[in-house]
Amino acid sequence: MAAKWTPESWRNHDGKQMPTYRDQAALEATEATLRNFPPLVFAGEARNLTSELADVAEGRAFLLQGGDCAESFAEFHPNNIRDTFRVILQMAVVLTFASKLPVVKVGRMAGQFAKPRSADTEVIGDVELPSYRGDIINDIAFEAASREPDPERMVKAYSQAAATLNLLRAFSQGGYANLHQVHAWTHDFMGRSPWAKKFKDVADRIGEALAFMEACGITPETVPQIKGTSFYTSHEALLLPYEQALTRQDSLTGQWYDTSAHMLWIGDRTRFEGSAHVEFLRGIGNPIGMKCGPSLEPDALLRMLDTLNPGRVAGRMTLITRYGHDKIEAGLPKLVRAVQREGHPVIWSCDPMHGNVIKSASGYKTRPFERILAEVRGFFAVHRAEGSFAGGIHAEMTGQNVTECTGGAIAITDEALADRYHTHCDPRLNAAQSLELAFLLAEMLNQ
Ligand code: PEP
Ligand code: MN
Repeated sequence: MAAKWTPESWRNHDGKQMPTYRDQAALEATEATLRNFPPLVFAGEARNLTSELADVAEGRAFLLQGGDCAESFAEFHPNNIRDTFRVILQMAVVLTFASKLPVVKVGRMAGQFAKPRSADTEVIGDVELPSYRGDIINDIAFEAASREPDPERMVKAYSQAAATLNLLRAFSQGGYANLHQVHAWTHDFMGRSPWAKKFKDVADRIGEALAFMEACGITPETVPQIKGTSFYTSHEALLLPYEQALTRQDSLTGQWYDTSAHMLWIGDRTRFEGSAHVEFLRGIGNPIGMKCGPSLEPDALLRMLDTLNPGRVAGRMTLITRYGHDKIEAGLPKLVRAVQREGHPVIWSCDPMHGNVIKSASGYKTRPFERILAEVRGFFAVHRAEGSFAGGIHAEMTGQNVTECTGGAIAITDEALADRYHTHCDPRLNAAQSLELAFLLAEMLNQ
């Protein structure tokens, strides 16, 4: 029997990937400040997401989760939020049409600031400094003072998350997310894409479906789903002092919720038994994601599911697999079989990003678009063979025209990576590559 959970019981567990703050008094003062700030989301919204995700677990909906690897203070701008939101909506329309299922949209937005790192320090020349851990913790500039963790950054991150969420809520419900408008953007994109011919059929059929619905009286004026959409937020629950300070007891149910986002996930590096992150997440009522990489054994996964979802609530657990294009077909089946044998309700979602990072010849960290697609193909093939539902996709992407992942219709070459390489952490799909991924997924969903 596990010891009693409290919002701070994680402090008695093994906390990896978190900074050591030099000034404890400053840290405690910041935590006290955050504890008095309003929740960013309401518990009822997190419960709504769980119930929408239950439909995904049962094969009646599809999950699209996407956004930055790391949000940053420097890239904080309404146009960036708008453009990422817009591409997610465009992807969702294509996926809805292809799958004939509702698409649950979850942004890696409004709080995705803290990053796990493979090394604690970074060495350039003969200088060794602490690694950059995301803008909520320290600054990316390679200088000793910048890399010092500063608790005040949590307050700035909170305020950026609040403003981002506010804009996302306004866009979702205020008319910007109108289905006709979203399709018009895709139509415009088609005019410019070298792969337009390949996608024309799907885009034309979506256009015809919309025209038919309009003729039947299904318009933004008559049907709220045409005028607006629901949109949820998520991030990796990594910086636990921040997450704890935003964890509140719901007055309706008495259950604790982490009100920093609707959905929280646990990373591949912090999902081990006895970890502080597992301890924290097991006690909150939000839907939870868990990254599953090649080192995860079936027995460990089952124990984790028993810890994180003992009540076997459908929609609570999303397993986000991230194997790499060359490992997924050998590695994933044993996890799927174990979960099926035990009857745990889970969503299987594919993160085709984190197992496919390479260093380009030009020295940039990149992800070849072809490998991303190959992992998605492998993911669908495994689930088809095992009789499980391939329920979602998890992508690092942006609405900007960056050059961070190679390939795609306007083939970004190794040399071109330098043109607009802006990410604070991992390479992201740009707007065109994201939409291309959605069209290619649409083909796979129809097979
Ligand atoms: C991430 O999603 O940005 C991440 C670090 O992923 P993972 O934990 O799967 O490596
Ligand atoms: Mn990443």
